[in-house]
Amino acid sequence: MDMDAFYASVEVRERPDLAGLPVVVGGTPGQRGVVAAASYEARRHGVHSAMPMSTALKRCPDLVVLPVRMGLYAEESQRIHRIIERYTPLIEPLSLDEAFLDVRASVKLFGPVPEIAQRIKREIRAELGLTASIGIAPVKFAAKIASDLGKPDGFLVVEPDGLRAFLDPLPVARLWGVGRVGEQTMHRLGLRTIADVAARDAAFMEQHFGKHGLHLLNLALGIDPRGVVPEREVKSVSNETTFAADIADRDTLRGILLQLTEQVAWRLRNHGLAGRTVQLKARYADFSTYTRAQTLDAPTDSTDVLWQAVAPLLDRLPRPGAALRLIGMGVSGFDAQESAQPDLFAEPPAPRKVDGIADAIKEKFGKGAVRRATTLKK
Ligand SMILES: [Mg+2]
Repeated sequence: MDMDAFYASVEVRERPDLAGLPVVVGGTPGQRGVVAAASYEARRHGVHSAMPMSTALKRCPDLVVLPVRMGLYAEESQRIHRIIERYTPLIEPLSLDEAFLDVRASVKLFGPVPEIAQRIKREIRAELGLTASIGIAPVKFAAKIASDLGKPDGFLVVEPDGLRAFLDPLPVARLWGVGRVGEQTMHRLGLRTIADVAARDAAFMEQHFGKHGLHLLNLALGIDPRGVVPEREVKSVSNETTFAADIADRDTLRGILLQLTEQVAWRLRNHGLAGRTVQLKARYADFSTYTRAQTLDAPTDSTDVLWQAVAPLLDRLPRPGAALRLIGMGVSGFDAQESAQPDLFAEPPAPRKVDGIADAIKEKFGKGAVRRATTLKK
C-alpha cells in the first residue's frame, strides 16, 4: 500500500481552497531546499519530489509551496496504520506512507484479498479523506510495482498464475537492485525487459552480475521468498532516497537528510525503539558508496538528537562538494536494557490491547460477554 502524493494530499485536505492547484511541500524560504512531495497537478508541470525548489519554481511559476509539517503527516500515518491494523498485524512500513501487508491469514475473517484491499482503501478515504494505491501480488517486489503502476487511487491485482505475464513486459529497471549502472549494463547485453532477463540462464547472469545476478534472475522469474517483516522485529530503522538527478548542493542535501531523519525518528518513536548508532549513507554519481557512523552516549528516538549526530557526518564524507545520487540515514543499536523508553520497549502491548478490547465488549454487552479462555473450567 502506498499513499498518493502523501504530504501534499494531507495539506490539500487541510486547505480545500488549494484543491486542483499545483502544490508542493518542502523547501525553506528563499527558494532553498527540495520538494518533499508534489501534488499530481504539480507533477503535470514536471515537478517531482527530491527536486531542488528553485528548479520546481522554474518549471511551474504558479506553484504553491507549503512548509513541511512532519508532525501532521506522522499523525496521519498513525491513523492509516490503525485502519490497516483492523485487517492484519503483519505490517512492514517502508516510510510514513508506504507499507507491505501480509493478509493471507485474514481471508477467513474478512473475505478475499482484493475485498480486504478495497475495504482499506474505502476506510482511508472515508475516515481520512486521502487516497491510497494498493497492489496485490503473491510476492513482495511485484506488489510494490503493482501499487505504483495503478497510481493514483490505484488498485491492481496480480494473480499467482498471471505473475510472469505481469512482470515480462516491464523494463529491467523495475527489478529491485537494478540501478542506473545496472540498467545500462543490462541494455548493453540486450536485456531491456524483465522477460529478457528471465530468458537467460543462471550461468549468464552470474558471469555478468556475480551472485547478485542469480537474485535478479529469480526476481525476473517471479521468485521472491522474502516475507513481510513487522517493524518490531527489525534490527535497524533507516530511510534513503535516490535522486532523479545527482545533487551536489550541500544545503539541498542537508534538507533531504533532515527529512529522512524526521521520518526515521518518527518510526522509532512509533515503535518504542531507541538506538545509539546513527549512520549516514551516501552514493556518488559513479556509484561508489560510503557510510559514516556515530555512536551516541545513550539510545535516543529524538529527531533533534539524531539530527545533531547525523548532520556533521555529511562533512566527513570523502570528496566534499561532489554530486550524490543517493543519501540515506539509519539508526541501529537498539538496547532493551538501556532504552530511553523501557516501558514501551519491554512491551507487551498485545495484552494491553486485548484488555482494551475486552473492556469495550463488556461495556457494550455486559460483564459476562467475554472472558479469558484460561478462566474456563475444563
Ligand atoms: Mg506515496
